[in-house]
Amino acid sequence: MPEIRQLPPSVVNKIAAGEVIERPASVVKELLENAVDAGATRVDVSVEKGGTELVRVADNGCGIESEQLELAVISHATSKIRNADDLFGVSSLGFRGEALASIAEVSQFLIRSRTGADQAGAELEVNGGQRGQIAPCGTPVGTIIEVRQLFCNTPVRRKFLRTPQTEMGHVTEAFTRIALAFPSVHFTLQHNDRPIHDLPPVLSWRERISKFFGLEIADALIPVEGNDGVVTVSGFVANPSLSRANNRLQYFFLNGRHIRDRALQHALGEAYRGLLLTGRFPIAFLRLEIPADSVDVNVHPTKLEVRFQDGGRIYSQLLGTLRQKFLSTDLTARVQSGPLAVDQDPAAALDTDQAAQRRQELVQWAQGQTGTHPGPAADSPPDGLGSAAPTNEQAPDPSSPRRQSHLEFGDTRPPTTAPPFRPFPDQRIDSPAAPAPPQTVGSPAPQRVTPETPDVPPVVTRAGMQVHNRYLITENEEGMVIIDQHALHERILYEQLREKVLAGSLEKQRLLVPEPVTLTPAEAGVALESREVLKELGIEIEPFGGDTVLVSSYPAMLANFNPAEVLRQLIEQLMGGGKVPERRDLLDEMLHMISCKAAIKAGDRLNADEITALLEQRHLFQDSHHCPHGRPTALVFSREELDKRFKRT
Ligand code: ADP
Ligand code: MG
Repeated sequence: MPEIRQLPPSVVNKIAAGEVIERPASVVKELLENAVDAGATRVDVSVEKGGTELVRVADNGCGIESEQLELAVISHATSKIRNADDLFGVSSLGFRGEALASIAEVSQFLIRSRTGADQAGAELEVNGGQRGQIAPCGTPVGTIIEVRQLFCNTPVRRKFLRTPQTEMGHVTEAFTRIALAFPSVHFTLQHNDRPIHDLPPVLSWRERISKFFGLEIADALIPVEGNDGVVTVSGFVANPSLSRANNRLQYFFLNGRHIRDRALQHALGEAYRGLLLTGRFPIAFLRLEIPADSVDVNVHPTKLEVRFQDGGRIYSQLLGTLRQKFLSTDLTARVQSGPLAVDQDPAAALDTDQAAQRRQELVQWAQGQTGTHPGPAADSPPDGLGSAAPTNEQAPDPSSPRRQSHLEFGDTRPPTTAPPFRPFPDQRIDSPAAPAPPQTVGSPAPQRVTPETPDVPPVVTRAGMQVHNRYLITENEEGMVIIDQHALHERILYEQLREKVLAGSLEKQRLLVPEPVTLTPAEAGVALESREVLKELGIEIEPFGGDTVLVSSYPAMLANFNPAEVLRQLIEQLMGGGKVPERRDLLDEMLHMISCKAAIKAGDRLNADEITALLEQRHLFQDSHHCPHGRPTALVFSREELDKRFKRT
């Protein structure tokens, strides 16, 4: 029969420590919370090797009397609550009295403290839970705590620590959360004696946010405020022109405490519905104030999650406040013009000239692959796909100021690949509504036409035709095939790029001026940790102080993309699975990302050469009928189906 025994306190404490202290960042969080609770106006954090060697937090708060020092490190000893009722009216960050005990149980721990009333301070060392003697010492008013060799006596836990870079990412995130919540406190952070943050007290929250996340974000912030008598919402949300591919830039503070809450994230997402592309997440810094007795903060070991008495009310208060703000704010102006527009849609970062070039490359490449010349083929009326429609006429889009700079297809094509494309005015069917001016140059001039241009006849080639500027219609033995032009081009580019990569001919380009990219602390940690993998992909980065990294080189084929955006997306990929992905997966992801960005879009009007080149590669769809986003890429209407519909059977 197994015997039931009471565990010795040291084991109990180690179990408790396991819940509260997961990694160095947890130590930083707990010590910072204590400093804030002690009323400190200045808190200095210094960390070595991502906190695995040392975490040191010094504050100028109220300090601890020497007689109380021992109690501070004993579990369930706290000055912050007295009885169970107090649990539901907590106004301090801490209240369980187990952080210091837990930390001291699994590290080499030193606390030095002095109150304003005392002439000298006192210090106490605890080594893996073994308390030493309290000794007097000279120390400024406030508290200094040093935590060395975290998990020194729990080797399995120590082994689970990640690299210093990654741990530092978590440390910085923990620091960020507290420093964001208390802008009137002066915080500093240094790592291996290198200053990372120095945040003097500020009155405006925007200023502190800007210190962490840069001016671009700070400038895009829209202040929000709402109060229904019980719930107060205040803070900032970013203009939808600025968004992220994950929700890591959504900070919620409940009564001063950073929390994660799915319902709040959902309310935020709802408020932005229709304002962001799918897969993009709002940026937000929001404070919620509710009566302390209407929330239970004692449901999660690190209090990251809370339980609301009336979650629905908070949800609707947040959603209502944001909706009202958006209704009264002109959000469009910024989307169209501001310098931030780049971030709105990653694809938009692709300069249209470059898109044109990509399309030209496609045709050249297709010609190289098949040895056919799409130009002349398009001369003859297509078989079975409508009659002689013009191949060369596209209504100029007067609304497009850029149209002059679009590709000059025949002019730039090397003469060896194909003869220039000639117009055939005699085959033109002019639309009576808008007669297209005849082309006089020796090549068609494809224009980016607005998606719905009813009076422009479709371009038809032998291979197929484009409709609505987004679908290609063609046929195979089976029946009629309708293909999503973007998905097909994306697939083709993907194959092209993969060939290059496998052949080792992925060229990289050194940036004349390395580009600084500001990341979140966790992102910066992961990016720097993955330097080698990124380098294999042609992306070279180096640390640049704080959470900024410098991009010094990246793949030539990405020359037209915003390096910051590319890097962020790759990092999101790196962080996504919780573990560092295989080089192969990362590479694959990058290829997908590049192809998606570089491919023609729905709404791009194609010329005959482009349609032909695309359709010549449609066999690529045979191995994958779905684009990476899970949408179908092609629809097949079988002959039987068509016959049936036309009642020919
Ligand atoms: P809790 O914060 O939940 O009370 P802790 O284990 O974190 O538990 O701290 C125990 C007690 O030690 C606190 O209640 C507080 O009285 C005291 N203490 C801890 N850190 C500090 C500090 N930096 N300054 C002043 N007092 C502190
Ligand atoms: Mg505490």
